[in-house]
Amino acid sequence: MTESVATALEQLESRRNRLVALTAANLCTRCGFCTESCHFFLSDRDPQLTPFAKVERVRSVYKKEHDWLSRLFPRFTGARDLTEEELDAWTEIAFRYCTMCERCVLNCPMAVDTPAILGAVRGALTAAGKAPEILVQLADAAIQREKSLHLFKDLYVEQIADLEKDLREKTGDPHASIPIDKEDAEILYVGLSGAHTIVPVAEIFNRAGTDWSLSLFEASNYAVFLGDMERAKAIAKRVVDEAIRLRVKEVVITECGHAIFSYRTAVPNWFGPLPFEIRSLIEVLDEYVSEGRIRLDASANPEPMTYHDSCSIGRKAGIFEQPRRILKAAGKEFRDMAPSKGKSFCCGAGAGLVANEEWKDTRLKAGGPKAEQITETGARVVVTSCDNCRHQIGDLSEHYGLDVEVRSLAEVAARAMA
Ligand code: SF4
Ligand code: SF4
Repeated sequence: MTESVATALEQLESRRNRLVALTAANLCTRCGFCTESCHFFLSDRDPQLTPFAKVERVRSVYKKEHDWLSRLFPRFTGARDLTEEELDAWTEIAFRYCTMCERCVLNCPMAVDTPAILGAVRGALTAAGKAPEILVQLADAAIQREKSLHLFKDLYVEQIADLEKDLREKTGDPHASIPIDKEDAEILYVGLSGAHTIVPVAEIFNRAGTDWSLSLFEASNYAVFLGDMERAKAIAKRVVDEAIRLRVKEVVITECGHAIFSYRTAVPNWFGPLPFEIRSLIEVLDEYVSEGRIRLDASANPEPMTYHDSCSIGRKAGIFEQPRRILKAAGKEFRDMAPSKGKSFCCGAGAGLVANEEWKDTRLKAGGPKAEQITETGARVVVTSCDNCRHQIGDLSEHYGLDVEVRSLAEVAARAMA
């Protein structure tokens, strides 16, 4: 047995009870109801890409380890040993052909949690050194950013000062600001790297009179995709420590699916009780629109718009109505996809797949069902509250000739501010 196989088996064992119980896989009755849920299967029709088949591959090793009948008669039960080749096949199943979208879970009468099982497999593969290198590098870079805070902070402050100048020019407001390191602010806003998640939000916060401070860190957490909870905690802790240091009342997470999901679910468990609330930017925008803190002029967005429910924001975090309320206030015509909300199709690039250029062909193919849904609406603008989904839908537009623009909710709301 190689070292990586031994590590993977040991890790799976340690995650068996804690995470999902790989034994849940044994509940599967092979009914096949989950089959038509998965965008990987729907876009390829390869039986190996059904949720059931992906878990079956893990289950066959699990049986060899835990089932006496399988140990005695592996051929009879279909049990197999974990080998280097099998680990490589698992990397494909768990990282390339599952975006952890949870759509199959909805349709399983036995409540088999395929993404949770494959999430445990991701963690085992990461420990065994079999995770995609790009995800490991991105997670490590985030941790390094905190260690080198003294090196990058001055540069970051300069970059934000430039953005502030742009903001003042754009809004015509000489007092518009992007505060950093502001103590006792109401909100610590955690964006992503890049101006697109900062400038429109700064426009809205300045107009609404929000007392806020921009985080020094980004909301994304690639270690979540690795199933590596120790690294994921270290990345999230940077923001938790910053919020405590600045004594803010609330941490507001930008439009990023996995960040919203992990900050609302895992972070309070890891570090709670916390002395601040955690909300999504979507909820804050919805509140501002509903309470009249910002007024929107629908004529600023005249083209028909549709909304893509990111799996982590919709199905996993239950945020369905708020974005639709904002879009109906900010645009002339809103057209929902069918199916939408909890039953919405994944864009095909979640759970870190979008970061892996080597697998771009896979995600473009897997985005086929989403591309069809978009075409059926006839919308000219697709709005989504996740940066990964935006990237993917932009690529889908090019690949499938959809000819749509992709915008965030904050961009649409900022355009419509009267
Ligand atoms: S979680 Fe999503 S991508 Fe993964 S097997 Fe289920 S339907 Fe397919
Ligand atoms: S729907 Fe559930 S029980 Fe049926 S094949 Fe899929 S995982 Fe197994």
